[in-house]
Amino acid sequence: VRAKSASNYIAAYQEGDDRSQHRQLTIVSCFPKALEQNELYLVFQPKYNLASGDCTHAEALIRWDSSVLGSISPGEFIPLLECAGMISLLSQWVIDQVLLQQVRWQESDIRLQLAINLAIDDLSEKQLSERIITRLKRHGLGAQVLSIEITESQLMTDMVRTVAVLNRLKRAGVKVAIDDFGTGHSSLAYLKHLPVDEVKIDRAFLTGVESDPRAQHIVRSAVDLAKGLDFSVTVEGVEQMSVFKLLQEMGVDKIQGDIYAKPMRAPELEMHWRKLNQPLG
Ligand code: C2E
Ligand code: MG
Ligand code: MG
Ligand code: MG
Repeated sequence: VRAKSASNYIAAYQEGDDRSQHRQLTIVSCFPKALEQNELYLVFQPKYNLASGDCTHAEALIRWDSSVLGSISPGEFIPLLECAGMISLLSQWVIDQVLLQQVRWQESDIRLQLAINLAIDDLSEKQLSERIITRLKRHGLGAQVLSIEITESQLMTDMVRTVAVLNRLKRAGVKVAIDDFGTGHSSLAYLKHLPVDEVKIDRAFLTGVESDPRAQHIVRSAVDLAKGLDFSVTVEGVEQMSVFKLLQEMGVDKIQGDIYAKPMRAPELEMHWRKLNQPLG
C-alpha cells in the first residue's frame, strides 16, 4: 500500500460511524483471501446494437458473495479497494478471467467483445497495460476480444498519465470507453484529445427523459456531441420501452440495460448469443 493510498483510506475510514467503519475494515481485510477462495465471480451484461439488433459486446461486472458478510455490491467494495490501494489486485484477476473466458469462446466460435472496468490506479502505471498486451499475445487472442472502460471522473484526475497509457492500449488495438459520461467534469475542450472510441452516457440522464423536454434536450445534446466527435455512443441503464425508442430515434449506437438483458453468468450469455446467431435453415 502506497503512502498516498493509505492516507486516503484512513481519511475515508475516519468519516463513517463505528459500525460502518468496522464493516469497511472487514471488507478490505477479507478481500485478498476471498479472491483466492473464489468468492468473487464475473457476470456479463450484453449491449444491444440499436441499428442492427445484433449483440456483439458485453460488459464484465464483478460480484462478491462473501462467507463473512453475504453478498456485497461492487458499488460498496470497489471504492474501498481503491482507497486501500488494492484495486489492481482485482483488476488483474478480472483481466485473467476475461481472457480465459475468451480462450474458451474462441474454441466454440463465440464472438463477443468483453469490456472490463478499470480504475485510475490501474492506468497510472504502465504495468497493467503491458500485462494486458502480454497476456493477449500469450493466449493467442486478438485485441478485439477486450475493451476497457474508465469513468469520466477518474480519467480527469490524472489526465496526462492516463492518456499516455490509453494511447498505448489503443495502439495495441484495445478499444477504450469513457464510462458514466456526463457525471465527471471533463472540460469540453479536452474531449477531442482523448484517445477514446466510445462514450457511455450515465443512466442518471434518463430520469424524466420521456416527459421532460429539458431532460430530453440534455440527452440529445450529449449524444450529438459524442457522435460529432466520432465516438460510438452507448446509453446505460435503459429500463423502459419508451426510452429505448427515444434513444433509437436519437441515433444512439448501443444500449445496455435491464430492458434488453440483465447481467448474467457466462453459460447464460453463451445461450443468449447462440440464440441470436443461429445459422438459418
Ligand atoms: P458501471 O460500469 O457504470 O456499470 C453499470 C452498472 O449499472 C452495473 O451495476 C449494472 O448492473 C447496472 N445496470 C445496468 N443496467 C441497468 C438497469 O437497467 N437498471 C439499473 N438500475 N441498473 C442497471 P453494478 O454491477 O452494481 O456495478 C456498479 C459499478 O461498479 C460499475 O458501474 C463499475 O463502475 C463498478 N464495477 C463493477 N465491476 C467492476 C470491476 O470488475 N472492476 C472495477 N474497477 N469496477 C467495477
Ligand atoms: Mg462500466
Ligand atoms: Mg457506467
Ligand atoms: Mg457506474
